[in-house]
Amino acid sequence: MITLTDVSRSYPGGVIALDRVTTTIERGELTAVVGPSGSGKSTMLNILGTLDRPTSGSVRFDITDISEMSDQELSALRATRIGFVFQQFHLAAGTSALDNVADGLLYTGIHRAERRRRAAEALDRVGLGHRLRHAPHELSGGERQRVAIARAVAGNPQLLLADEPTGALDSRSGEGVMQLLRELHAGGTAVVVITHDREIADSLPRQIRMHDGRIL
Ligand code: ADP
Ligand code: MG
Repeated sequence: MITLTDVSRSYPGGVIALDRVTTTIERGELTAVVGPSGSGKSTMLNILGTLDRPTSGSVRFDITDISEMSDQELSALRATRIGFVFQQFHLAAGTSALDNVADGLLYTGIHRAERRRRAAEALDRVGLGHRLRHAPHELSGGERQRVAIARAVAGNPQLLLADEPTGALDSRSGEGVMQLLRELHAGGTAVVVITHDREIADSLPRQIRMHDGRIL
């Protein structure tokens, strides 16, 4: 689905966050990305998700080289095919779980009632059908991350990218979130998950191990 070829990403001041990385993410696969802090994991995930462009090298999504796509085309690609989950949830405060998820479908042009129906369905799928009206501050950390996952998958993306989704959770909530990612994978979604948790990583079919901006 996505191929990185000799991808490097450097920042002003001489930081080389990614150093000639080549890898492929296949349709429907479940992959852990592991490595010490600063090894380039988030940088690679952002490039896989087209949130960032490489300094050199190429990124292919299906048969399209993303360097040939405009920012608008990339936004559309992300909105329809890729879901993102982050350690800190990034939910809108004072907004119900239902609207947090429904607002993630704004780009689709679907009318509000249908967006809310699909959002309720996604929240039901993550086990939060009984928490639709709760705002983030009325939910536990594990529940907030479930809302974030519901938002990420409400539009049925082919790819879910998760940057340390269990990093801010206790181990039990973290296991619940991982179980959810496994279920999405079983349903056909490709999942790439950055984790510091060796046990989680060892339980997944593939691990990409990073060090100093390179894949080991
Ligand atoms: P990881 O997710 O593995 O902890 P990152 O991909 O976030 O690592 O960062 C890789 C390297 O790139 C680190 O040395 C980090 O300090 C550097 N880096 C990340 N983002 C920036 C930025 N916006 N500007 C400068 N350096 C950055
Ligand atoms: Mg990171």
